[in-house]
Amino acid sequence: MIVRALIGLGGNLGEVRERLDAAIAALDALPGVAVVARSRFYRTPPWGHTDQPDFVNAAIAVETGLTPMDLLDALLATERAFGRVRDGERWGPRTLDLDLLAYGDEVIDEDRLSVPHPRIAERAFVLLPLADIAADTVLPGMGRVGDLLDAIPTHGCTPLS
Ligand code: ADP
Ligand code: MG
Repeated sequence: MIVRALIGLGGNLGEVRERLDAAIAALDALPGVAVVARSRFYRTPPWGHTDQPDFVNAAIAVETGLTPMDLLDALLATERAFGRVRDGERWGPRTLDLDLLAYGDEVIDEDRLSVPHPRIAERAFVLLPLADIAADTVLPGMGRVGDLLDAIPTHGCTPLS
């Protein structure tokens, strides 16, 4: 069975756009995963600890034959492959975050995996790119992506050319 899944991408260290491009290409190259849509890049303010660089965020849609857990494992493996940069002799912090935002209409609540991703509705840095590719998608238990975006502030978030 082929399912449409939505994936959020972000990072804030180094050449983020190049890294996100490479991560998207790596996901598309996986057996059982085809990237069918991608958003613009957005520059977004950091959350949590605000004394760090702005983030770059994007979202993609994939068609996949992988199970949700296998897709999560593929995202985590891709984070490990792309998410660290050499900082002299030391490994720098994680620089790539890949979140499984939605997997078809499924609702999953397991230790390792919550789908739809539970913090989508409060995060402009997720909803802005997601609305580029899936504004009319209804996230189970949450609502339509475009409506969710209309309900939250987006100040400080700007699309990159
Ligand atoms: P966050 O993305 O919430 O800032 P992390 O990327 O460090 O934090 O969290 C990674 C962990 O979150 C993974 O080990 C994974 O098992 C768990 N997780 C639960 N639901 C999801 C999801 N929908 N997408 C990605 N990771 C998830
Ligand atoms: Mg994550």
